Amino acid sequence: SKVWTVKTAFDGKVQTSNFELIEEEVSDNLKDDAYLIEALHWTVDPYMRTSELGRVKPGQCMAGEQIAKVIASKNSSHPVGSLVRVFAGWRTHTLIYNDVEQKVGRMPELGDLPLSLTLGVMGMPGMTAYFGFLELCQPKEGDVVLVNGAAGAVGSLVGQIAKIKGCKVVGCAGTDDKCKWLKELGFDEVFNYKKVDLSEALKAAAPDGFDCFFDNIGADFTATALKHMKQFGRVSICGQISSYNDKAPPKGEYPFMFILGKQLKIEGFIVMRWYQRWAEGEKAMAQWIREGKIKYKETVYKGFENMPKAFVGLFDGANTGKAIISA
Ligand code: NDP
Repeated sequence: SKVWTVKTAFDGKVQTSNFELIEEEVSDNLKDDAYLIEALHWTVDPYMRTSELGRVKPGQCMAGEQIAKVIASKNSSHPVGSLVRVFAGWRTHTLIYNDVEQKVGRMPELGDLPLSLTLGVMGMPGMTAYFGFLELCQPKEGDVVLVNGAAGAVGSLVGQIAKIKGCKVVGCAGTDDKCKWLKELGFDEVFNYKKVDLSEALKAAAPDGFDCFFDNIGADFTATALKHMKQFGRVSICGQISSYNDKAPPKGEYPFMFILGKQLKIEGFIVMRWYQRWAEGEKAMAQWIREGKIKYKETVYKGFENMPKAFVGLFDGANTGKAIISA
């Protein structure tokens, strides 16, 4: 198997030089219920830089999900040719001997939809948008919704779900091209956050403030956005990508006075909270895709060797929609 390991511990901005590609022997001597898989698609996600789940020590294989094909099997539930979604990490071949221990997950009902969506709209990022927005922001028709990181895997879906629910949607992203795409997706107001004064842009987009805010970015953005919330606004804290590469906790304004003064409901979440309900989210997403109400984009990197490049790209704004690496 080819395996991407961490060569040097992450320190500040993650670099492609933090990773090393090694070869590892994978036994094809299958015993009992074991089976051998070969990866078809990998994903890179921001959590891999930061969370306990993603953090790996030098010498270890990077953690992460992949979609793989069974290429040899002694397991009747996973015959040769069948597909699995598994948390096997950044590697091409893996021997699976225990589905639970090795985190083999259920495949979504894709029907005619592309397989790679299992890592995007129909997978973890899609469920993050679906549950993290609907459950925590409780959007109502006519609500004004703010979503940042809006051209990303999660943000682009949150904005479209908000439109489906009859909201007015304000989104921002870091390039004009991304903003143009957001308009095509039906966002009402968009701006390039790198080119504006954030407070002025928020005021212009929503003079009466926001009912809902879905936050992918954190730190200064959050502190500013909270000032523009309406009374009893709801805030879903999804991500803090602007500080994942930081060496120290973010500085900036202390937002808690606004939370109090505006009586906001702010809640953080981890998408696995709703894992038992993912089938419900997948069904809704698949239907909305087929109805043309949800559109998606993938930035596809061809070749396993490009995994670090795709990953570093998450923090440079290099990808639009979902970043996928295909074999
Ligand atoms: P994206 O596809 O949105 O990729 C990351 C994007 O973030 C970049 O393209 C870039 O877009 C933007 N970005 C990167 N660095 C900064 C920065 N310093 N300031 C502002 N924007 C920045 O990633 P995902 O959709 O997969 O994830 C979005 C967020 O959701 C992340 O924070 C992630 O950790 C979080 N998340 C949380 C989950 C949960 O369970 N709570 C589950 C999944 C994701 P641009 O060009 O616009 O700057």
